[in-house]
Amino acid sequence: MLHSHAALLLAALSLPHKVQGFASRIMDVPGLSDRLSSRAIVYSDFDNSEAIGALVTSRFFTATSAVQLPTIVVIPAVVEDVQACVRHAYDHDLDFGVLGGGHGVAGLGHTNGLLIDMTALTEVHVDTAAGITTYQTGNTIGSLDLASKDSRVYSPNGNCPQVGAGAVLHGGYGSMIKTRGLAIDNIVSYQLVTYDSKLHTVTNESESELFWGLRGAASMLGVVTKISVRHFKVDDHYGGSIVFTNVSALPRLVAWINDKGLSATNEFHVRFSVFSAPPPASVAMEVTLWGDGSAF
Ligand SMILES: Cc1cc2nc3c(=O)[nH]c(=O)nc-3n(C[C@H](O)[C@H](O)[C@H](O)COP(=O)(O)OP(=O)(O)OC[C@H]3O[C@@H](n4cnc5c(N)ncnc54)[C@H](O)[C@@H]3O)c2cc1C
Repeated sequence: MLHSHAALLLAALSLPHKVQGFASRIMDVPGLSDRLSSRAIVYSDFDNSEAIGALVTSRFFTATSAVQLPTIVVIPAVVEDVQACVRHAYDHDLDFGVLGGGHGVAGLGHTNGLLIDMTALTEVHVDTAAGITTYQTGNTIGSLDLASKDSRVYSPNGNCPQVGAGAVLHGGYGSMIKTRGLAIDNIVSYQLVTYDSKLHTVTNESESELFWGLRGAASMLGVVTKISVRHFKVDDHYGGSIVFTNVSALPRLVAWINDKGLSATNEFHVRFSVFSAPPPASVAMEVTLWGDGSAF
């Protein structure tokens, strides 16, 4: 089934801002387009500067030198589109990559073959009775937090709101790490498309070896389309960052935290990030205080 004009128009209107400039370049890729749902978006045959420009500007944390020019970009609308992409890549011996939040600096998701951009798969279901949040992997840490905030629950994912599923798939450290561990410590199941385009629901009980591997090396094992993770009730907490424009402040900050005994306190979480650019080198201290403050 080829895309109808109406479906193409609807798809173009719902395009994320970052790729709207490509709306006129939705393509029919023989053997692939007819396997995709009508809402999937396909780009192909664009020239280097446009494609690289779009990828670099929209996923600006990937080093420019790591960005590759894909032959085809697909933005799946449903899980079956992901399966169709993997099958197409397999059938045509085409390299494929997966792009989540684009914060992988090394650009390991980039490819010169078929790029599967997960950003349209953004369903989230917060089940407070079960204590589980289930979400599609086009979400970011920020979109998950927003979806969970009314229920006052939190899944240990990471701190930076624009970071995508790549964080959770390879570890995921955030401000709950002291009490709840990494994101992967709390995952209860994955939905995974493997190289043969089969869809698996992977739990420790159903496929324990695959589950073990997914908890840290997920991007080596297929395309993860959905994750179910334990969430936790959160009450009051406060957070913020202070940027010190002199990196030599770092040892003194660490000493101060240790002197106060804060590092031994579960209610206190701190993360330091050192930036070398733009100059001068600076250090950001990002603090989260859990609870009502009575621990301090
Ligand atoms: C500014 C900044 C802040 C950060 N903050 C944190 C933080 O607070 N906590 C933390 O843990 N990490 C943090 N990181 C590190 C970040 O988690 C990793 O760089 C992560 O790999 C980025 O994931 P992504 O989806 O955004 O990036 P991408 O570049 O899109 O993906 C990274 C890797 O994951 C793969 N991948 C993405 N989605 C899928 C999928 N659905 N199925 C299979 N493979 C997939 C890609 O193919 C690629 O190999 C931060 C990084 C930056 C640049």
